[in-house]
Amino acid sequence: MAAKQNFISGKWVDGSGVTQNINPSDISDVVGDYTQASKDQTQEAIAAAKAAAPAWGLATPQARADALDMIGTEILARKQEIGTLLSREEGKTLPNGIGEVTRAGQIFKFFAQEALRVEGTYLNSLRPGMDVTITREPMGVVGLITPWNFPAAIPAWKIAPALAFGNAVVFKPADLVPGTAWALAEIISRSGIPAGVFNLVMGRGSVVGQTLLDSRDVNALSFTGSVQTGAKVAAAVSARGGKFQLEMGGKNPLIVLDDANLDAAVAGAVDGAFFQQGQRCTASSRLIVHAKIHDAFVEKTVAAIKALKVDHALKEGSQIGPVVDETQMKQDEDYIRIAREEGAELAWGGERLNRETKGFYLSPALFTRTTNNMRINREEVFGPVASVIKVDSYDEALSVANDTEFGLSSGIYTGSLKTAKDFQRKAQAGMVMVNAPTAGVDYHVPFGGRKGSSIGAREQGRYAVEFYTTVKTAYVNAG
Ligand code: NAD
Repeated sequence: MAAKQNFISGKWVDGSGVTQNINPSDISDVVGDYTQASKDQTQEAIAAAKAAAPAWGLATPQARADALDMIGTEILARKQEIGTLLSREEGKTLPNGIGEVTRAGQIFKFFAQEALRVEGTYLNSLRPGMDVTITREPMGVVGLITPWNFPAAIPAWKIAPALAFGNAVVFKPADLVPGTAWALAEIISRSGIPAGVFNLVMGRGSVVGQTLLDSRDVNALSFTGSVQTGAKVAAAVSARGGKFQLEMGGKNPLIVLDDANLDAAVAGAVDGAFFQQGQRCTASSRLIVHAKIHDAFVEKTVAAIKALKVDHALKEGSQIGPVVDETQMKQDEDYIRIAREEGAELAWGGERLNRETKGFYLSPALFTRTTNNMRINREEVFGPVASVIKVDSYDEALSVANDTEFGLSSGIYTGSLKTAKDFQRKAQAGMVMVNAPTAGVDYHVPFGGRKGSSIGAREQGRYAVEFYTTVKTAYVNAG
């Protein structure tokens, strides 16, 4: 099978090597071969984007809207097929894979309209006869680096606003999930946008990603991924004076109070902590539970996760798929061992499972008797692993929830409106959920966090314009 190619300056081209895309539900299933860009080839993509950026920046909003709308329409029409590919290469269950591809199509359609809504401001100057206008212009060339856990939605929520607001794009997807990225790129390649405006460079982070970070021709860099890589992005891009945006990890708290609807809270905790194998930056990994209902909560949660069907992502009825690869599996197992060594009690799960096909199956793990200073409660595991922290009051719960280096999402289950509003005000997080799982944010609202989770402008919704444009203040002497 010929390797899928990179897309540079309007042409499909081979790279300098090839990588195999393996299905984590069945390691004997090769999803496909994908070419790997070299440093030189990445530089060619940046040069192509630089050459194409000025004309695209001046293209009419209608031209941009039409292209994005066409892309969104095709993604939605092919959601079953691309969703199946996504689930096959990433391991999330098929309904989740299709749901994510649907989201990607909706994002393109949303930003098609946003291309028409870029606003400016007019002010009277303090000087007589002068007009002041404040307008937004594209950044120019933007580099987009994405993680493996949302192979369609995260690329979409970066590529769509970048193109809508007139930028040229160099897109580097995560090494583990080139398939969905390639399918998106193939659709974009037929949308009528000029050569060089959109470029796909698949390959290693240390090669392709690093070249994007180091290039002075990349005017803005949007990154989603781990804290460790994010630190490299911040250091490299700020050293050369570039603009950047980082969305990184989380250690998201979910508080369950004694006045909560317990069954709803258990359902929200199980969804937030374990669905999509806990491989969500917004996963509820710290379950902060009031002492009065602690035992009942643990009992019901264990019963719920025991009943979850862990199996091949494409199998009908699977609720939890495999973790993404052996490296992630080892990381999950390491944290399970560390938690036990620190004195946490494993209430259920944490075992490798054998299924009909050989894959990376792990039973959802729930720890009890944990304290907030344990590593399991301070570091992101990024797997189907959650821990319960027992507290005696709402005030203690709030203080534990905020006692973290992260600040992405934060949730509470309570029957009290007063407590809910207090939590909404005091939670130190970019996103707050009341009586709902910590994961799951609509595409038309801002997504992002505080503290160690995020740096820079918010993604998604109308706030995306902030990152993908720069402001110009212009004076005209009409006197
Ligand atoms: P990662 O940091 O390993 O990789 C992210 C991307 O960076 C990949 O494309 C990778 O190839 C690239 N990269 C690696 N080294 C690089 C370098 N030196 N220079 C430039 N690019 C480089 O993260 P991952 O394992 O793919 O994703 C999981 C992480 O992503 C988790 O920490 C998760 O919380 C985070 N995440 C955050 C959000 C959010 O919006 N906050 C959303 C999804 C995932």
